[in-house]
Amino acid sequence: MDYIKSRIRDVNDFPSPGIVFKDLTTVFKDPRALHIIGWDLSQLYRDKGVTKVVGIESRGFIGGSILAFELGAGFVPARKPGKLPADTIRQEYAKEYGTDVIEIHRDAIGPDDIVVLHDDVLATGGTMAAAYKLVKSLNPKKIYINFIIELSALNGRAALPADAEVTSLIVY
Ligand code: AMP
Repeated sequence: MDYIKSRIRDVNDFPSPGIVFKDLTTVFKDPRALHIIGWDLSQLYRDKGVTKVVGIESRGFIGGSILAFELGAGFVPARKPGKLPADTIRQEYAKEYGTDVIEIHRDAIGPDDIVVLHDDVLATGGTMAAAYKLVKSLNPKKIYINFIIELSALNGRAALPADAEVTSLIVY
């Protein structure tokens, strides 16, 4: 974990003043760190019978795909509105300014699925809470929530359902 931590780049004042952005591109470009991420993420879910990993656009696509591959599960993208070509369901959620929407294909998840929802960073939790509602409405057997990084000072866990099993590889 120390090796991954050493590869994370803090970028000050991105995307706006006062934000310290946890940049994972410096982890993903490093072959050893990428390998460790895949292994460490998958170890969390090895014995759980996971059938689908849902990655949240767009930084959640990277770790989510790796996790799905490692687990022998399928990958499902949760995307910004208007990006998915077939029949979708949508969930609106509040942002700091205004609202946002995420969508997934209606046929992406079914009642036999055991799902891991994945994003790179847990900040306020608004995005993941919306993704959870979306996936929950498709009635899978079980939903796990996963992040590479959790920014605990922002208390994003409070925005997530109390009964959800939330796991982060690295907590700041
Ligand atoms: P949230 O506030 O938890 O809904 O976070 C929204 C999205 O912004 C997440 O998908 C994260 O990838 C990203 N994000 C928020 N804050 C940061 C940060 N400090 N560093 C990197 N990514 C962030």
